[in-house]
Amino acid sequence: MKVLVSVKRVVDYNVKVRLKADGSGVETANVKMSMNPFDEIALEEAVRLKEAGIATEILAVSCGVLACQETLRTALAIGADRAILVESNEELQPLAVAKLLQSICQKELPQLVILGKQAIDDDANQTGQMLAALLGWPQATFASKLKIADGKAQVTREVDGGLETISIKLPAIVTTDLRLNEPRYVTLPNIMKAKKKPLDNFKPEALGVDVAPRLQTLKVVEPAKRKAGVKLPDAKALVDKLRNEAKVI
Ligand code: AMP
Repeated sequence: MKVLVSVKRVVDYNVKVRLKADGSGVETANVKMSMNPFDEIALEEAVRLKEAGIATEILAVSCGVLACQETLRTALAIGADRAILVESNEELQPLAVAKLLQSICQKELPQLVILGKQAIDDDANQTGQMLAALLGWPQATFASKLKIADGKAQVTREVDGGLETISIKLPAIVTTDLRLNEPRYVTLPNIMKAKKKPLDNFKPEALGVDVAPRLQTLKVVEPAKRKAGVKLPDAKALVDKLRNEAKVI
């Protein structure tokens, strides 16, 4: 079974993001970039499926600027067998990425596509759902457990107030939640081995996909600064403030 995993290059989750001076977006120049954490989980799950003898090949795909090759090399070091970069300098919105992945799925015919539930930069939580709709394949989003057997995926999903377990027919789309697994660290020997693994490069035009942005970002602003807290002498003073200042009781 072939598994396709999408990996996005995003600002590292440890970096405190800064806004561009003109408020048009987040500053990415000279900022540490890494694989989207939910995509590390997606890849880890694919590698575990391969180790269990269920997956036979793992294909990692990233869409974006040439530097996404670094993210793909990391994916190859973690355990992907091959990688595809869809290279574009355009801002790629979720619909464009979903169309690019659709085109690759139609060529590569994976039985399972694993994506992160969201990219930590745009927080869109859209690409997996859009891809499922475009392909007409079943989807299981926010997976915290995944079992593959008899041409089906049994997926436990994190939903409001608990867990839901569904069974969907393959080929299918799964998006990962935080508790699905704990990704492994990349080892030096595997980084060396990854250099020899195949990495192809396509342009969106070669896949017949128009990636022009459909949405326009008007303005990006920082969250309001929190005011410093105050210490109160006793519960009576707290009740007084809640009643007379905050007016919440
Ligand atoms: P989003 O819908 O933007 O929150 O992203 C959800 C998931 O879609 C991510 O965790 C990735 O697996 C995938 N994805 C989104 N954008 C890209 C991209 N440019 N390249 C590869 N995968 C992507």
